[in-house]
Amino acid sequence: VAVPTVGGDGSPVLALDIGGTKLAAGVVDSAGAVHSFHAAPSEPERGPDDGLERLFELGRRATADAGLALGAVGIGCGGPLNTERGVLLAPLHLPGWRDVPVVQLAIEAFGRPAALENDATAAAAGEHRFGAGAGTRHMVYLTLSTGVGGGVIVDGRLYRGAMGNGGELGHVTVDCNGRPCRGCGRRGCLEAYASGTSIGERAVEALAETDEQSILGALDRPTAADVAAAARDGDPLAVGLWDETVAALACGLTSIVNLFEPELVVLGGGVTRVGEQLLGPVRAEVEAHAVRPAGSPLAIVQSALGDHVGIVGAAAIVYDRVASGLMLAHG
Ligand SMILES: [Zn+2]
Repeated sequence: VAVPTVGGDGSPVLALDIGGTKLAAGVVDSAGAVHSFHAAPSEPERGPDDGLERLFELGRRATADAGLALGAVGIGCGGPLNTERGVLLAPLHLPGWRDVPVVQLAIEAFGRPAALENDATAAAAGEHRFGAGAGTRHMVYLTLSTGVGGGVIVDGRLYRGAMGNGGELGHVTVDCNGRPCRGCGRRGCLEAYASGTSIGERAVEALAETDEQSILGALDRPTAADVAAAARDGDPLAVGLWDETVAALACGLTSIVNLFEPELVVLGGGVTRVGEQLLGPVRAEVEAHAVRPAGSPLAIVQSALGDHVGIVGAAAIVYDRVASGLMLAHG
């Protein structure tokens, strides 16, 4: 099959996002505009063949809706993965999906070149190219969601690491004797405190350890949003949990800021929807504790792409690769 090369022509990209809870597909143009969007539950336990069949169907519908000729396919997925070979190795959020050659399968399904990137790295590329970080040269993106992920722009370019697994900012240690981390198995990772999952788990643990009355005690499985709301209402247990969340995030972020001296930190993911309740105190802590002058000219802002960050990010990696002169995989 003859497959066209993607040049610098900026043809629209079919973006595919493989999340642990949601599959999404959309057509995104070179200005970051979303022309179509379809999403469905991931149900990863049905396996990779079934999952990719449903993902590609979403992609065919998104392509038909947009009515645009595609240049390439961009795919974002959680790691570990091998971006150069285009293979999902054993993504933590997709149990049982091992050694899935997703790029080759996408090339066969759509007849276009394709590229794979870690989803948080892709989101960083999306925020840098089209979102809150547009125009910056040194930027860190951190997503607080089911897990905690991140991506780093160094001197205007996306940092990938040797096999595309660099920038695992969720596994920066904030307490080396701390809570076990579901993601990597070590202790005291940022993810073990500041992910939505961990905030909910810490609420359950705190309730089990105290006789103190709390609004959260009436809930079956309190979420990060429940903890934030109860903290706003002055519930002492929730205030304690929220302060601990802020402290962990500020601690991890201070280390990250000291490493990279970014101009801008963009925070995305569901946990950050509370806005200033999280960003305000984190900003103050990082500014107070980062090694001078790394923390002082720094802005910490919320994601501009919101719910579309997954597909806009997956498209951004294609435009980023083309701009960087990196090849996309062909059939
Ligand atoms: Zn970890």
